[in-house]
Amino acid sequence: MSMQNPVFIPGPTNIPDSVRKACDMPTLDHRSPAFARLFKPAVEGVRRVLKMDQGEIIVIPSTGTGGWEAAISNTLSPGDTVLAARFGMFSHRWIDLCQRHKLDVEIIETPWGQGAPLEAIEKALKADKAHQIKAVLATHNETATGVKSDIAGIRRAMDAAGHPALLFVDGVSSIASMPFDFAGWGVDIAVAGSQKGFMLPAGLAILGVSPKAIAAMETARLPRTFFDFKDMLTAYARGGYPYTPAVGLIAGLAHSIDLLESEGLDNVYARHHRLAEGVRRAVFAWGMAPYAASADLYSDTVTAVRVPEGCDGTALVQLAASKYGMAFGVGLGEVAGKVFRIGHLGMLTDAMVLSGLAVAEMCMADLGWPLKLGSGVAAAQEYYRGTVPAMALAAE
Ligand SMILES: *Cc1c(COP(=O)(O)O)cnc(C)c1O
Repeated sequence: MSMQNPVFIPGPTNIPDSVRKACDMPTLDHRSPAFARLFKPAVEGVRRVLKMDQGEIIVIPSTGTGGWEAAISNTLSPGDTVLAARFGMFSHRWIDLCQRHKLDVEIIETPWGQGAPLEAIEKALKADKAHQIKAVLATHNETATGVKSDIAGIRRAMDAAGHPALLFVDGVSSIASMPFDFAGWGVDIAVAGSQKGFMLPAGLAILGVSPKAIAAMETARLPRTFFDFKDMLTAYARGGYPYTPAVGLIAGLAHSIDLLESEGLDNVYARHHRLAEGVRRAVFAWGMAPYAASADLYSDTVTAVRVPEGCDGTALVQLAASKYGMAFGVGLGEVAGKVFRIGHLGMLTDAMVLSGLAVAEMCMADLGWPLKLGSGVAAAQEYYRGTVPAMALAAE
């Protein structure tokens, strides 16, 4: 029996039992045909989740951060310019990674709580007549603030400027939980990790790479060895890997995609939206609000809850862990203490979310925050009971 509560951090997420079992396998020779048989469905599944029509899938034993580094080091050269907006901890860290790789980052400083600033991006691209900017970096879902950005809008801005830069998207906390359209948005590299929407343990960086990004490797001079796409693709063509793959995680990935597709990706996205909306109803009933500046920016995978003046979001997270054995996310960087975060992605049901909201309320009451116990839970209950999907009813 497991006495562990579900986690409400925005990654790593809860792992379905069947995914854990799929990862647990005897040693397999990764140079044997058995590995190729295991790997192929995982790769093909990722391709469908990303909605790719061409290009390559790269799966590296790493995490999302390694995925960023792989994107950069395979396609760019020292001194190249990239364009990025900074509006949270994850967009900040990607910028930092680029700077440490000696790239020249043109930063659009954007208030935290906002999303990618489309007009400013278009303006910067139009001003770059010489096409110095080699890549535009976009954080699809800023996990620090619970803000979703409009990637299709960034593509439109790039097209409106007639700019040939590559488009790199961090989808670590959105892919497999929120709609993603690699082909439709003209994405050149999408970065995901195993431990968020894919419901696996941490340990894989998962990338979709367009033919244009592959072509950029020909002239890209940043050093790369472990992350070299070329070594990967050469080895893949022979059904193998340039080094030892994380075999268990790859088996788990194929299974997790089976789960997502048997639920139906659109249903997965609708489930996340419904769970997120219930959380937001609770937050408003508490007299608080999401940190995201407007409703169109609300993330369906994580809500950063702006706490009342004089209250400390980090204290709530610490109390939830120590007293109730439940994990929420602390505020990072600029919003440390000012928010706490409720992750609502991966393997979650409405009943599980209600348990998280109930514990958050107990912590608030314990800390003497102004709130009536049950107020947020009731608001979420009202929303959930009125929006049970037809599929769940039909299953009875
Ligand atoms: C979690 C996360 C990352 C970092 O991924 P790691 O797997 O921890 O390296 C990057 N970007 C976003 C948006 C994330 O949510």
